[in-house]
Amino acid sequence: MFTDSPLSDGGPGCNEQRAVGRFAPSPTGDLHFGSLLAAMASYCDVKQQDGRWLLRIDDIDGPRSVPGSADAIQRTLEVFGLEWDGPVQWQSQHLDRYRSSLDELVKKALVFACNCSRRSLPSGQIYPGNCRNNILTRDQQSNDYMVPDHALRIALTGQLYFQDKVQGTQSTQLEEQVGDIIIWRRDKLVAYALACAVDDAQSVSHVVRGADLLSNTSAQIAIMRALNLPIPRYAHIPVAIDSNGDKLSKHSKAQPISSLAALPVLIQAWNFLGQAMIEAESVSNFWAQAIKLWQIEKVPNTMRMCCEP
Ligand code: GLU
Repeated sequence: MFTDSPLSDGGPGCNEQRAVGRFAPSPTGDLHFGSLLAAMASYCDVKQQDGRWLLRIDDIDGPRSVPGSADAIQRTLEVFGLEWDGPVQWQSQHLDRYRSSLDELVKKALVFACNCSRRSLPSGQIYPGNCRNNILTRDQQSNDYMVPDHALRIALTGQLYFQDKVQGTQSTQLEEQVGDIIIWRRDKLVAYALACAVDDAQSVSHVVRGADLLSNTSAQIAIMRALNLPIPRYAHIPVAIDSNGDKLSKHSKAQPISSLAALPVLIQAWNFLGQAMIEAESVSNFWAQAIKLWQIEKVPNTMRMCCEP
């Protein structure tokens, strides 16, 4: 698809007057310590630049959404003093935007329909390109090209580079290391990579999130480029793991931070991120110091680090 220079470091983000960051939880359960790390790092990163911090609820995966969790996430952020700017954004309200991005990728002959079942593909490996010949063409009459019982994939080829503020220069052979990812699911829902790429390109200049998403970032940048969209700057912070080596996640039943006292947990998250010591008497005083003291260069560039609150 393309080959680019190792020096390219992100696009529009770069033209933005004011830095814009975001926290983008899926409403699939309570926030845990790992989510707090991503929120804190992203918040400090843009607030230090006098930027805006958005809250986007990634609620496109209806079947996985947990009723009440979007509200609970907002209440927890408030208790932890993480104040977002502007109205909450909801991915479920951006479906037209995703659909027109898909139309554009189809027009560019980059999308193909795939009905390979999970079982028919080598497990845990990169998609081998089985259905690449099923390139979709737009039906002039109906404008409908969804094929029943097929997912839509984007053909990704070439070498992609980007600069990550924590993990350093990233170089990805798309075909071998990422493969043709699904952008529209068999159950007719937009896939995370397309929705996230389109939303981030639209309104975010600085994406700071967990290193578990690093492997998806090249795919998201490839999608943004295919759509001629601006590309944010990226930083991927280490993922917190428990004593068994499992990522702290809603899935692993990590303890919800809403059940913990905010200030000590904020300080623990701050220390985990390798920052200079803070002694604070209140949550608001913690943030006042944190925004001044934040140094992204101090964040460890390991992919996973052991820590539980
Ligand atoms: N919604 C995704 C999640 O909760 C994160 C998206 C992102 O930060 O890119 O895992």
